Amino acid sequence: MAKKIRLNMEVDMQDLKSKILELRKEQNAVLLAHNYQIPEIQNIADYLGDSLELSKISKDLKENTIVFCGVKFMAETAKILSPKKKVLLPVMEAGCPLADMINVEDLIELKGNHPDAWVVSYVNSSAEIKALSDVCCTSANAINVVRNVPVKKIIFVPDKNLGWWVQKNVPEKEIILWQGYCLVHEQFSIDDLMLVRKFHPTAEVITHPECPHDVLEKSDFVLSTAGMLKRVKDSTSKKFVIGTEEGLIYRLKKENPEKYFYSLGSARTCLNMKKTKLEDVYNALAKGQYVVELNLEIMEKAKLALERMVSYV
Ligand code: SF4
Repeated sequence: MAKKIRLNMEVDMQDLKSKILELRKEQNAVLLAHNYQIPEIQNIADYLGDSLELSKISKDLKENTIVFCGVKFMAETAKILSPKKKVLLPVMEAGCPLADMINVEDLIELKGNHPDAWVVSYVNSSAEIKALSDVCCTSANAINVVRNVPVKKIIFVPDKNLGWWVQKNVPEKEIILWQGYCLVHEQFSIDDLMLVRKFHPTAEVITHPECPHDVLEKSDFVLSTAGMLKRVKDSTSKKFVIGTEEGLIYRLKKENPEKYFYSLGSARTCLNMKKTKLEDVYNALAKGQYVVELNLEIMEKAKLALERMVSYV
């Protein structure tokens, strides 16, 4: 009996995937998915990547509709970079708690206190925050962006851990840190790292710059998710301890079946990244939901900050 139910679910899943692919073709749509999405979404995506890769891709797409399987700020970024396209976020409630840790009023006040500073905002921020920024950055290019901005003083928002990592690597700049953090990455601890080193002494420890700074200091490599994929591919090591959202470990295993991956401590999951299911992608295409709409003035200002970022990479 249990076997029969599983078989039906597989058939339904296959059916759903075929319907999604049909609708995608009919509507000249493209599916973008972040590396932290669930495996079923990763497997059906046209493009899979981190924020920087997906931002660059969305800018040059030929299709009319972008279905963004990720969280709200990512779909907003795609809309800002491709204002003429229809951008759909399949689950309206897929937000980012880190992006919500900063608001417009407080940032305006901080800017007023430091008129000589540039605002560098991590892409994990709302369109309104990007519009108030001089330049955006991702975890992959934050160090380069800060190094290249033509002023000494920087207001770095909203992630304090990424900002700390940038300051360590670009000591010549004076960085004012916003005190936001990612609820998922903040859970990785130095105790987990020490323990994992004991059990897997030959493994490379690779962490994401949103992790706490004592974890970053003791890691072998601190990289964005795209950087992690590249490092693992290029490395001669067989074992890796990964300090980021567990969705990336699925992709790492799939692309490197001969290598071994361990999570740094317990597997950490971003509930917002896991909200999007195949049914939601189907509904997004079938019903045209949920359309990302932004104020024109905000889009134009945010676009300047994003385009400046791309020019610094
Ligand atoms: S992993 Fe962290 S930064 Fe990324 S979407 Fe989830 S809460 Fe936001």
